[in-house]
Order: sequence, then C-alpha cells, then structure tokens
Amino acid sequence: MKFIKKASSIYYTGFLSVALTFTASAQNGTSKQFNQPGYYQMALGDLQITALSDGTTPQKLNELLQDGKPGEIKQLMKANFQSDTLECSVNAYLVKTGDKLILIDAGAADAYGPALGRLTSSLEKIGYKPEQIDAVLLTHIHMDHIGGLTKGSELTFPNADVYISKIEADYYLSSVNKEKAPKEMKRFFDGATQKLSPIIKAGKLKTFEFGNEIFPGIMPVASPGHTPGHSFYALESKGQKIVFWGDIMVSDVVQFADPSITSVYDYDRKEAMITRKKALADAAAKGYWVGISHSSFPGIGHISSDGKKFKLIPINYSSNGIGQ
Ligand SMILES: [Zn+2]
Repeated sequence: MKFIKKASSIYYTGFLSVALTFTASAQNGTSKQFNQPGYYQMALGDLQITALSDGTTPQKLNELLQDGKPGEIKQLMKANFQSDTLECSVNAYLVKTGDKLILIDAGAADAYGPALGRLTSSLEKIGYKPEQIDAVLLTHIHMDHIGGLTKGSELTFPNADVYISKIEADYYLSSVNKEKAPKEMKRFFDGATQKLSPIIKAGKLKTFEFGNEIFPGIMPVASPGHTPGHSFYALESKGQKIVFWGDIMVSDVVQFADPSITSVYDYDRKEAMITRKKALADAAAKGYWVGISHSSFPGIGHISSDGKKFKLIPINYSSNGIGQ
C-alpha cells in the first residue's frame, strides 16, 4: 500500500512537470523536442517518394493567418482540437527515379532555431548522404525552404544542381526589388543572397521558365501568390500523379475549410487565394496525391470536397495499400 501510494505520487509529479513544460514551451515560443522517425515512404509508379522531416516549429495561427471572418480562425482551430500555438511541420521530399535522387526543398537548417534543421539526419536515416543528391528543386525562396542549401559558404548538397523558377530568382536576387519591398519582407531578399550566392558561385543554380519538364515526368507548375515565382512540382509515373504544393497552404485545418484565409507571408494575398482555390479544386476533382510543406508530417494525402469546403485525407487513411 505504501509502495502504491509512493508510485502514484511519483506519477503525478511527473505528469505535472510534463504539463508545465508544455505550457512554458508554448509561452516562450520554443519548440518541444521529440525524436520522431523523420521519414515516410510511398511508391508512385516507378518513383519512390520519401517525405523527410526537417522538424517542427511553433506558430501562432492567429498571427500567421489573416482575412478570416471575425472569430473564424479561432473557431476552426478549436473545432479541430488545435491550440493557439500550432506545432507546424516543415517537410521536404526526396524523389528517387531510376538514376537520380531529387530533393524538393531543402529545409531551414539553423535559420529558425534548434527544432528545425533535421533534414540531413532524416536523409541519413534512410541511408543517403547529402553528397548523393543530384538535384534540389525549390518551390520558392523563403528560408524554411532554402536554409538547408548551405552552411556558411559550404554547399550542403555539393553535387546537386539547384533549380528555381527564373521569375523567383530574378525577383529575390534584385537589390532594386528589395528597396521597393515592405520592411517586413526585406529579410527574404537577404536570405536569398545569403543562401543562393554560394550556389551561383559554384555554377549550380539553374533557373527555368514554366512549361517544360525538368526531368522526365517532373514538371514545374506556375503557382504565384505566396511568392511571385512560386512553383509546384507535378510528378507522374505509370498513370499515378502527385503535386508538391510548397506553401500555397500553410495551415492544415483553417485554409482547407476556408481557402480565402491568407498568410501574412504572402507576397500577393489575393493571387495566393486564387492559386489555392484553383489547386484545391483541381486536386479534389482529379484525385491525385498532394504533398504540402507545412501540413502535419508527412504532409501527403488526397483532397476531398463537398463543393465548398476542402479536407486533406492524410496518406495514412487514404493510401489503399499504395507504397505501404
Ligand atoms: Zn514555408
């Protein structure tokens, strides 16, 4: 009896300290550190797709999202059991073709603190070294997608060509555009210079125009709004298709229910909204897979729709055995 009482008091103390840690971490904006597996694999025809976690970072959705009706964002979060501060996933994707290893986005590295920057360790968990990556396809030039390209002046993926749309590179590598940009957006230009200069110096930056495949079965798709030259990547193999959406959706629950809600990081929020609605309707109508950078890891699923609202059906529930 004495033993049981002691054990239960230890349990209670432990539980309380965990609860306090969670509260403190939400308050001071630091991320919780868990050791999740960091990868998730599926087959798409002849391609092997691996979602790679770069980690998670706390985001206050009330501050990140805008243009909702009064109280709408809070209500949607509550209805979906989300707290005010969401632990937001940062996902990248590895595509293994017959002879190439292609990374879609490069994670944040150390740009947003220690809870991110796990991409290369996630990659190593599936047996690959950064030197083996042949190409990195960037959806857009924000630090949580390009941060992992370099450490100082050193290239993280030294043998990879780095692809970005010409519109995106031209916009963010221009000092004239930086001058004209609103104050809170200027850091994106600094990030572009910092991370892309070593790539340019090594002769590894490849800019593309929309309309042509980059590799067989891999097509960049213009998806402006979040940034001017934002690119989706559509992959097809043996009649199966996945489209990687980058940051056209930044919240799992809020923007699926109301795609009119925009992000404070959108370059052109109206254009972002139009692109988002079009992408959601197309994916729901045609039934292909989507991969979303900031949807809960692995961020892969199908889109369902009742004609007004949309919903992500995560791969865990919608795979029908594909690639499991
Ligand atoms: Zn992002």
